[in-house]
Amino acid sequence: MIHAFPCGTLPLDFVGTLRARRNAAPIEKLAVPAQLDAWFVEAGIFDAAPGADATDLAVATELRESIYSLVAARLDGRPMPERAIAEVNRHAAGLPVTLRLHADGTTRTGTVAQGLAALARETVEILGGDDAALLRECARPECTQAYLDRSRGHRREWCAMKTCGNRVKAASYRARHHSSAEA
Ligand SMILES: [Zn+2]
Repeated sequence: MIHAFPCGTLPLDFVGTLRARRNAAPIEKLAVPAQLDAWFVEAGIFDAAPGADATDLAVATELRESIYSLVAARLDGRPMPERAIAEVNRHAAGLPVTLRLHADGTTRTGTVAQGLAALARETVEILGGDDAALLRECARPECTQAYLDRSRGHRREWCAMKTCGNRVKAASYRARHHSSAEA
């Protein structure tokens, strides 16, 4: 696995492929088409790489940024930008993933456009439905990844306990330990 899926929903994981996006130097995890291919397979959208090219990558990252601008608007309580709404809707109208029945199971295949259509439809469902109220931003300043807080009581603070939660806890432990050692 070269990608991470901590957010509880694929469109937000997709947004997270521009890591630490609010930092001075974000990390681009979709820098080359092969990384987009890997993302679709690791996400479980396709069984086989869709065979992305440079144009697909450009279209995909443009959709990603539109999804982010919608999510950011919801998080800030601002109206969602119309251009981004139109772009998500355009992708959402695309062909679904090709699901085939075989003697020994199923396969899920398709083009990058089909994969993006799946992401766009899920985006519509999140932002247009009850899940929009569960949108949060990771409390670790270097992360700022958006996620859906499905925890009981809605008190989840981090995109993933395994990464960000533990890092924040370790840092505050070190800080406490350090100051008590000095005292
Ligand atoms: Zn995080």
